[in-house]
Amino acid sequence: MEMTIGFPRTLFYFLYYPFWYAFFTELGFKVVSSDPTNRSSLDLGMREAVNDACLPIKLYHGHVTELKDKVDILFMPRMVSIRKLDRETFCPKFLGLPDMVRNSISGLPRVIDQKVDLGRGVFPLWRLCQQVAGDLNCRGWPVWRAFQKARRMQKTFTDYLAAGIPAHQAIEAAITGRACQTPEYPPSDVRLAILGYPYLIYDSFVNVCLFEKLARMGIQTFTVEMVPSERLNGQGKNLPKNLFWNFSNRTVQAAYYYLEEEKTDGIIHMTAFGCGPDAMVDKLMELEAKKHGGVPFITLSLDEHTGEAGVMTRIEAFVDMLRLRRERHEDIISRQG
Ligand code: SF4
Repeated sequence: MEMTIGFPRTLFYFLYYPFWYAFFTELGFKVVSSDPTNRSSLDLGMREAVNDACLPIKLYHGHVTELKDKVDILFMPRMVSIRKLDRETFCPKFLGLPDMVRNSISGLPRVIDQKVDLGRGVFPLWRLCQQVAGDLNCRGWPVWRAFQKARRMQKTFTDYLAAGIPAHQAIEAAITGRACQTPEYPPSDVRLAILGYPYLIYDSFVNVCLFEKLARMGIQTFTVEMVPSERLNGQGKNLPKNLFWNFSNRTVQAAYYYLEEEKTDGIIHMTAFGCGPDAMVDKLMELEAKKHGGVPFITLSLDEHTGEAGVMTRIEAFVDMLRLRRERHEDIISRQG
């Protein structure tokens, strides 16, 4: 019987699942992910994780708890860095995640917790894949073949994300090989950048289906992953230095892009209550939005008590304000003309 490898459906799932899915399946393993986040994953996470953990870390504990008795091996990499950017790492909670989970949840199956540190050395991704495969007693040519397949699948997936396809559909399309239609946006009077970490932006339970609701309100939305990668790295040149954390840097860089190049009508920053890195990211983005002609900016802080009604009341008021602002602007221009 084929061995199963479990992959919790949160945190890095939303950006890297297709890569590891292709890699493990090509090596002959069955990959199992937990269910999409729901009330039960949240309750389990709140029960298992330390009290002062942020919402995404609690959810990770919930997903691991759901998965642990269904798989032979749990894939829980220690995420350190993925870009060669001066001193950039993941948030400390990512660095210590395997230890945190081991300490909080009993009865775990075997865990693969190789360090993902792609910021240094030569061919770091290939070396990482060899280490992970080594843990599974796989070596040689099959590992190279799995690596190549994983890279191809990841490329397909990131192309879908860049085209604005929601992450869950992009993942599904990439791993099944089914074609995915690039969405056609109807003409929209409001264009909003929804910025934040992928595990908040792409988890519909956490963000109370914000994207679907905005689409029904006729609003076109943009994300960090829709910024062309070659444009993203060059953003924020005027900052005296980079932030330390990968997702924080990406979020701030995307904010610059949407303030200076794509020029959206407003920015929604989605953040987790109690997130240390975001305390700085949020203020920085708010100040930059002010500097760029007062681009409307709103922060949505999400936690385990976030309710749909509260979020939607704020979003509707924000959108009304944007539309009013636009009408006034058009009015002034027509009077001047
Ligand atoms: S970056 Fe913030 S939200 Fe993400 S894991 Fe770290 S503390 Fe939590």
